[in-house]
Amino acid sequence: MLNKAKALQDELVRLRRDIHAHPELGFQEFRTAALVADTLRELGISVKTGVGKTGVIGEIGSGDGPTIAIRADMDALPILQNNDADYRSTNSGIMHACGHDAHTAILLGVAHLLRQSAATEKWQGNVRLLFQPSEEMSDENGVSGAPAMITDGALEGVDAVIALHVMSAYPAGKIYLQDGYSLANSDAFEAWIYGDGGHGAYPHAGSDPVHILSQVLNQIYAIPSRQINAQRPCVISIGEIRGGAASNVIPNQIYIQGTMRSYHDDIRDQLGVELENAFRISELMGGSYKLDIHRGYPALFNTAEVNGWMRDVTRDLVGESEIVDAEFGMGAEDFSYMAQEAKGAMFMLGAAIDDEIVRNHHTDIFDINEGVMPIGAAVLAETARRFVTGQIG
Ligand SMILES: [Zn+2]
Ligand SMILES: [Zn+2]
Repeated sequence: MLNKAKALQDELVRLRRDIHAHPELGFQEFRTAALVADTLRELGISVKTGVGKTGVIGEIGSGDGPTIAIRADMDALPILQNNDADYRSTNSGIMHACGHDAHTAILLGVAHLLRQSAATEKWQGNVRLLFQPSEEMSDENGVSGAPAMITDGALEGVDAVIALHVMSAYPAGKIYLQDGYSLANSDAFEAWIYGDGGHGAYPHAGSDPVHILSQVLNQIYAIPSRQINAQRPCVISIGEIRGGAASNVIPNQIYIQGTMRSYHDDIRDQLGVELENAFRISELMGGSYKLDIHRGYPALFNTAEVNGWMRDVTRDLVGESEIVDAEFGMGAEDFSYMAQEAKGAMFMLGAAIDDEIVRNHHTDIFDINEGVMPIGAAVLAETARRFVTGQIG
């Protein structure tokens, strides 16, 4: 399978660069979706478009037996590209700065590989290729691409679902696996603390929201260390504080926003309660507050059984030395919604270019080592092949 994937290298690079040069924001992946659908149709694969707005599904197999789904995301980011790659963005202000162009190209490579397998081997199941819109952002109803596709039935009848994410700072070709919780519940919050504004010389005449904030901040930063069981990962960070306009004027209100991350649902709920308690200090100090918590993506739970399949495939294709057991961290990925619908797992694929420059995700110089794409395609395709030929699952 790896050799067959390596034979697709030029095609994978061509597809990735085409998508990279024509990036589209979430739920606007019209050109990308058309490219995907056309490529799948040329391969003789049945295609469904408009799934979860701009998503595309390709289905290989007879319809009988179990189904494994493979997911790639297609969207880009609102970033002005700042490198001189000759395949750089032609849509000013939009850039594939997270590698979703590579994910889409890799899954099209998987389509090539599995169509060959389906034509020559006896299958007893199906593979569903999920080309997902809008991983990076949610629509006006707070819905991102994965739940949008699920609502449209994309995971119906699916027994297992797998995916990968390229990692631009990790050594090229390494496969990173983590069982269980591996990416976080990601919830944003916004709050307003209200007091009585007034002259800075007479703070005793009212309640100062800046002073109130100073006490609230103490309590917020104490939540992970004093309120949450130390054996449950979580983090709270404040990203913005805004208020006031002059040296001698106490403002009427202060605005605060931040993020809360956790793995477990009970901790997710507890963080919300503790945050509310922290802001209630405002009332004890003669002020008031408003707190809005915006629930984001749930934590990613990688099923050990599915990780085990991909671990075996990786060992067989590229060797044990390429496998890294790693902690993915407290980031978030909306693939987690799919992994709630069926047993699932995502692995990370190291994709650093071999030089001194770090091209981090979501930066204007992001780029990946395209040489790793066949490895990603081979691991996904071989896992699916073993699934539909009854070797696993
Ligand atoms: Zn991203
Ligand atoms: Zn991403």
